[in-house]
Amino acid sequence: MIETDSQGVTLTSRESLTFARTLGEQLGGHEVEAVAIGPLADQPAVLAHLAEQGVTILHHAEDDRLNAYGAAAWAAALTDVASSTSARVVIGSGTPRGMDVLAHVATRLDCLMAANVIAVDGTEPLTVSRQVMGGGVFEQMRLAGQVAVIAVAGHAVEAVPAAQPSTPRVDTYAPTLTDADLLTRVVRTEKKEAGDDTSALTRAKVVVGAGRGAGGADGFTDLLELTDLLGGALGVSRVVTSLGWRPHHEQVGQTGSRISPDLYVACGISGAIQHWAGCQSAKTILAINTDADAPMVTKAHYAVIGDLHEIVPAINEELRRRLG
Ligand code: FAD
Repeated sequence: MIETDSQGVTLTSRESLTFARTLGEQLGGHEVEAVAIGPLADQPAVLAHLAEQGVTILHHAEDDRLNAYGAAAWAAALTDVASSTSARVVIGSGTPRGMDVLAHVATRLDCLMAANVIAVDGTEPLTVSRQVMGGGVFEQMRLAGQVAVIAVAGHAVEAVPAAQPSTPRVDTYAPTLTDADLLTRVVRTEKKEAGDDTSALTRAKVVVGAGRGAGGADGFTDLLELTDLLGGALGVSRVVTSLGWRPHHEQVGQTGSRISPDLYVACGISGAIQHWAGCQSAKTILAINTDADAPMVTKAHYAVIGDLHEIVPAINEELRRRLG
């Protein structure tokens, strides 16, 4: 299942397509077919992304009753294709909507589902590695059976174009929907408040993280300057949002955003498992902390032990000097 927006196929869905394509190749050349449900804002953009990922068919479920999202109805549409094509694996991204729909699909197909999957061993029977306990533990799970459902963890796989782009065929279909499928659906949506946007944080190549060590709502001036100088985004711990020092959309972690920047500068953050769950995919982590034994320090690639209110201004001064 792919999720789409006005730009085409969303990044996490493209990651899932790369995951599916790699698995298909390992299983001996299975093709990847995509399913999109409901109206598409920009079908050419969707097809361009699918071509890039080597997808052979776009199954497009069209029915006015699918215009408003509903997990059961969307699952019915996806199950129709999975059954008619005898799919070996049904794959989607581990977004709230992806998890919601895929869980319904697994129930309908009466098969195993693995969520938060980060890798798969492409030999039968399939064995997946998946994150559990907020990403603190990796579990191996065997998916025996004729069909299996996999929700790929966001940013666990990089979206990589196929060696040979495809020309996807569009197969529009009307799924079989019952009244029961339509019982639960979205009836109203509200616009986010201005600035309440996590995309800058999840896309950023550099994230400056700040925790309780910031000391208070007025302790972020130097951290925000460092963020600007590095051209990044600010991410914070739950303590920071719970105390109202910064807005919730800046929170990193199990109940915040999962980030995978090239560099994460974690300042005054202890590195609790729930925070680590959101930042462990960072390619390089620099911890700044007064406590040399803090989990964030012991897990980081680099650490500076000391008061962030002295260290961050010193880094800023050096960066300003170098940037002229
Ligand atoms: P603390 O744990 O208090 O750590 C502060 C750190 O700052 C310490 O290491 C200290 O040595 C250091 N420090 C203090 N002063 C300075 C200074 N001047 N200079 C440098 N270092 C200094 N947390 C999240 O972050 N994200 C989540 O999504 C999340 N989800 C959760 C979900 C659940 C169900 C639960 C139970 C908890 C969740 N938490 C989450 C909370 C998590 O368990 C921790 O409580 C939280 O991450 C701690 O935040 P912190 O590191 O800022 O604070």
